[in-house]
Amino acid sequence: MENKRNADKAFLGQPRGLSTLFFTEMWERFSYYGMRAILLFYMYYAVSKGGLGFDQGTAASIMSIYGSLVYMSGVVGGWLSDRVWGSRRTVFIGGVLIMFGHIALSLPFGAPALFTSIALIVVGTGLLKPNVSEMVGGLYSETDNRRDAGFSMFVFGINLGAAVSPWAVPFAANGFGFHAFGNEMNFHAGFSLAAIGMFLGLLQYYFDGKKYLSKESLYPQDPIEKENMRPIIIWTIVGVVALAVIIALMGVTGNLDINNIIWIITIVAIALPIIYFIMMLSSKKVKKVERSRVWAYVPLFIAAAIFWAIEESGSVVLALFAANRTVLHIGGWQLAAANFQTLNPVFIMILTPFFVWLWSSWTKQPSAPGKFSVGLVFAGASYLFMALPGIINGTTSGRVSPWWLIGSWFIVEIAEMLISPIGLSVTTKLAPKAFQSQMMSMWFLADAAGQAVNAQIVKLYSANTEVAYFLIVGLVSVAFGILLLFFVKPIHKLMDGVD
Ligand code: GLU
Ligand code: ASP
Repeated sequence: MENKRNADKAFLGQPRGLSTLFFTEMWERFSYYGMRAILLFYMYYAVSKGGLGFDQGTAASIMSIYGSLVYMSGVVGGWLSDRVWGSRRTVFIGGVLIMFGHIALSLPFGAPALFTSIALIVVGTGLLKPNVSEMVGGLYSETDNRRDAGFSMFVFGINLGAAVSPWAVPFAANGFGFHAFGNEMNFHAGFSLAAIGMFLGLLQYYFDGKKYLSKESLYPQDPIEKENMRPIIIWTIVGVVALAVIIALMGVTGNLDINNIIWIITIVAIALPIIYFIMMLSSKKVKKVERSRVWAYVPLFIAAAIFWAIEESGSVVLALFAANRTVLHIGGWQLAAANFQTLNPVFIMILTPFFVWLWSSWTKQPSAPGKFSVGLVFAGASYLFMALPGIINGTTSGRVSPWWLIGSWFIVEIAEMLISPIGLSVTTKLAPKAFQSQMMSMWFLADAAGQAVNAQIVKLYSANTEVAYFLIVGLVSVAFGILLLFFVKPIHKLMDGVD
């Protein structure tokens, strides 16, 4: 069995199942990032231009809290797959919900369709994302050294989908044209394309998966016994009722507005990882060495959250900068603001081979906390760079060259290379045995926490606050990066043998 698995080299030297998962995730990310590339504009464009007419700050805040929820729900998705459905089925159900989420937005039903879509995509992505990654790991035996290369290819697939859709989806939304968004937007056509992408991903997953994914992935790894299910159902009901009561109370007292709901989600997104840490650090199932490693993970988690706050603001703050402050052509080549979303994944694809080479040939390379520290300095620098056009010109009115955004994205992607793949691998290595899959969810919770903080601060961003905004957030990141540098040695010691 083991040998048979190691011998499967049908997809560019990797197991054939990797191709199935590669294309599934490529299409899912195509739909997600394509939708996000136009969603911000859909929300704040005037109704007469095909938008929903939200206030720009509220639209920005919704973008961030939505991104936060999408990565928070992975906690539930991981659990359902481990204990109830098995990963293969969980991913499929997730994909179907995501597709319906995009379909909801492709229909002309305004804000109710938007919130239905957000709910479907939050739950669907929670079911799909952690489990499709977990299945990649499951393609390799413990002794198979193709695992890291397999994950790099998988990440390439994510970014391939994410790079193509900011061209394709805005093109459809823009009356099938490449130019700055005009007066007669058809955002619904764009969202339909996202739905079609997810549909293609599902088709491929269903038929290919039947042939090439393992039978084990059809069953939960640690199936829950009937008697243990009861308290969980009861607690879920208690949670839902408590939530309903809070919302009802807010309604009765006249406080039920979108900003307060976003506040509640922000608090949950920050509280959740704190609770998780306390649980792991106090659990009897966690050995002494493992506990020390969890302590080491705390500063890395905070660093990751700061990094993701900056990286994820690309689809919010930098998207606004593209729309309101950037000249939308390079020479004679016309662009829509949404097209700039392609830069993040394109730079990842360009930089990945260099970093793969660097890590494989640099013998005295820094440890994970060292890389995180430098990563935070780069992330902060990408923001400090964005403060420059306002400072140099002495004004933040008018439009500036697109090269500012291109440069900023290039700098932040260096940071992403130093934090994202390193973080994924160090997370698996520092995970206590009893919390292996939960620790993976923790990694996504760092992104969720970063975006939850964004949901509060992006509201403050506008041309008037532009320079201060970029300077303050950028400096926080640089300062934390430098602070982390002083703790590299002690953290490394706490990691107890893990690099
Ligand atoms: N941008 C990546 C993705 O969509 C990373 C998300 C994360 O690791 O938080 O898969
Ligand atoms: N860099 C993101 C993630 O790795 C993709 C994006 O933001 O477009 O995949």
